Amino acid sequence: MEKFSLTDIKKMNYSDVYHFIYANDKCSKQSIANALQMSLPTVTQHLNMLLEEGFIETCGQLQSQIGRKAVAYTITPAARVSIGVEILKNKLTIAILDLYGHIRFQKVCRIPFQDSADYFKEVSTEIRQFILEHEIEGKNVLGIAFALQGLVSQDSRNIIYGKILDCTGLSIASFEKYLDYPCRFVHDAECAAMTELWDHPELSHAVYFSLGYHLGGAIIINGEIQSGRTGRSGTIEHMTLVPGGLPCYCGQMGCMECYCSANALLAGTGDSGNEDLDAFFEA
Ligand SMILES: [Zn+2]
Repeated sequence: MEKFSLTDIKKMNYSDVYHFIYANDKCSKQSIANALQMSLPTVTQHLNMLLEEGFIETCGQLQSQIGRKAVAYTITPAARVSIGVEILKNKLTIAILDLYGHIRFQKVCRIPFQDSADYFKEVSTEIRQFILEHEIEGKNVLGIAFALQGLVSQDSRNIIYGKILDCTGLSIASFEKYLDYPCRFVHDAECAAMTELWDHPELSHAVYFSLGYHLGGAIIINGEIQSGRTGRSGTIEHMTLVPGGLPCYCGQMGCMECYCSANALLAGTGDSGNEDLDAFFEA
């Protein structure tokens, strides 16, 4: 049997109380004690610590049939935030998300991607200003994830394949140099699949398809995104659909990308591209 020290148990209880409130918005001290089988003084102690550290707050009182009304506790969603940055060829989007994963602030910058120091510096300045603008303290920023069209190494630090942006070999150090927060890359399709998982935690096995101007995908097994040993699993867009077919940006012929991406669907449809895409989905 594993041995736990008193400090470990305290930490676990503290975390359990927080997670219970996180999952059950507006709860009373008594309901926490009942659900977690803790004594009221123990729950009180943890609630006080969580209040002191700004992780939770009180939010009125709960209706009760008997006795006096109980104080309701809820988490403070913006006690910590994370930053998401989507890098595209012609623009980037910066979003600030709270602990429920809700976007609190978002902005689009028309900065075209370049694999150059000037670009990394400019983007980092935009991010820092955005954080400042919303009066978020640096210590409350958990980290920054950069999503882009490219495959990412297992440690999230390098782009191992980035043909669309022409950024193969790009290191996260290029951004970290200018930002005082933990940074990582995420493959954009995986990022979108992660959002689906966050919203639907009951998903166990699934194939995620992202139909954008480029096609993307991800494979979910046992509720987790599978990147495979080489970080290439789920790249559905490069499965051969037509042997010897149209040339793909990846260098192969007849990939799904060449036939099913929005770029391919819109190719040669004249100047009313959006109408044609709508017609496609209607059909
Ligand atoms: Zn391809």
